[in-house]
Amino acid sequence: MSYKCWFQCIDPECGEKYPISTVIYRCKKCDSLLEVSHDMGALAEHDGPWWRELFSGRYKSSSWPYGSAVWGKKEWICPAVDDKNVVSMYEGDSNLFWAERLGKIIGLEDLWIKLCGNSHTGSFKDLGMTVLVSMVKQMISEGSGIRAVACASTGDTSAALASYCAAAGIPSVVLLPAGKISAAQLIQPISNGSITLCLDTDFDGCMAVVKELTKENWIYLANSMNSLRIEGQKTVSIEIVQQFDWNVPDVVVIPGGNLGNVSALGKGFEMMLELGLISKRPRIVCAQAARANPLYLSYLKGFEEFKPVEAGKTLASAIQIGNPVSFNKAVAALRRFNGIVEQATEDELANASALADLTGLYNCPHTGVALAVTFKLLRQGKIRPSDKVVVISTAHGLKFSQFKTDYHLRRLEGVTFDYANQPEEIGADLDSVKRALDRRIGEWQSVEIDWSKWER
Ligand SMILES: *Cc1c(COP(=O)(O)O)cnc(C)c1O
Ligand SMILES: [Zn+2]
Repeated sequence: MSYKCWFQCIDPECGEKYPISTVIYRCKKCDSLLEVSHDMGALAEHDGPWWRELFSGRYKSSSWPYGSAVWGKKEWICPAVDDKNVVSMYEGDSNLFWAERLGKIIGLEDLWIKLCGNSHTGSFKDLGMTVLVSMVKQMISEGSGIRAVACASTGDTSAALASYCAAAGIPSVVLLPAGKISAAQLIQPISNGSITLCLDTDFDGCMAVVKELTKENWIYLANSMNSLRIEGQKTVSIEIVQQFDWNVPDVVVIPGGNLGNVSALGKGFEMMLELGLISKRPRIVCAQAARANPLYLSYLKGFEEFKPVEAGKTLASAIQIGNPVSFNKAVAALRRFNGIVEQATEDELANASALADLTGLYNCPHTGVALAVTFKLLRQGKIRPSDKVVVISTAHGLKFSQFKTDYHLRRLEGVTFDYANQPEEIGADLDSVKRALDRRIGEWQSVEIDWSKWER
């Protein structure tokens, strides 16, 4: 069976199609975003159970490249890439963690955290970047004139691009907002040999420059406006369902910045519904930082209008975006999945993240945003205590150790430190240690949530 995919304009009234190996990011006729479309008729020649079995059979297998949770679903993702051109780090298959203790504390028995940050470069961006860089390698092998791949980034896209390009031997260029990403995120592209350029602006400013830069056909754009990335990222929905033995959760909560990932989540569920792998829709919740909340503001007005905002400084730096590229795609997905958008303040995201860490996680501030929103919606009755809820954790906490250090040492502005755990310096003798233990062992168990904070 041969499967096909192509770029298609997302505006149904236009619907223009372009071959998948075209260097193109927006529709030439109407300037809308594009999406990758698949020959659903060909895919539908097999039924849902057939696909489930195929995907399960490839799970962690050693036959290249199908052990990757992205390429294990190659027919649904990007069948145009030859196996020999796949650039893969065996992405996906990240743990779906049953947050039993955190769930008990907040009164949600069936709470799960999808740890997408447990990945090669420490964020979910690997899922999409493997598809994009593989397609670039394919195009180069077909004689296209691409000489480099570029992106604007809040830190994680650049880390993923740098690593995958380094593995493939393709030059990469990253445009970063100077001083606005974590130290770990800055050193990642530097280490991988990327041309690392720090611009005195914010993410939206870097995005504007990279869009101009990539008008030159020899520099390929790697931002999520390039819908190849969405194809890889949509596998997160398939993985979640697969990890629940093909059952669909009631609610999925995901942090949103440029809004590619929430659209990808919707697209994955949509495809499983269409091809008969599942028969139910989850509710999708998009969680935004209150200081960078253009989708939330639009949601309050029923998505009737959209105004970009100037993003304020937030601890959730990877979603500090005021003019999200994938706004229209995200709204379409939220409309189909009974969507909710909620926001979290700095105080809320920092404390939610710290509380979750006290139950064994080591989560990033964006996961903190999603957790804080989960707490709030539970309090508001929009999530029920009996719901099966999945929170998408987008990056590994180790990339954000400064945020955690500042929290536990009480160095953050505008944050109450409900769960700060300060290290103590004491004398180097048994008595001092015993005295410290006597003081602290009693309070250790008492991790609780103060609901008054979550009722706003
Ligand atoms: C990129 C990113 C997000 C936001 O994803 P979008 O597709 O831009 O909405 C959230 N969290 C982390 C850690 C990220 O790197
Ligand atoms: Zn169009």
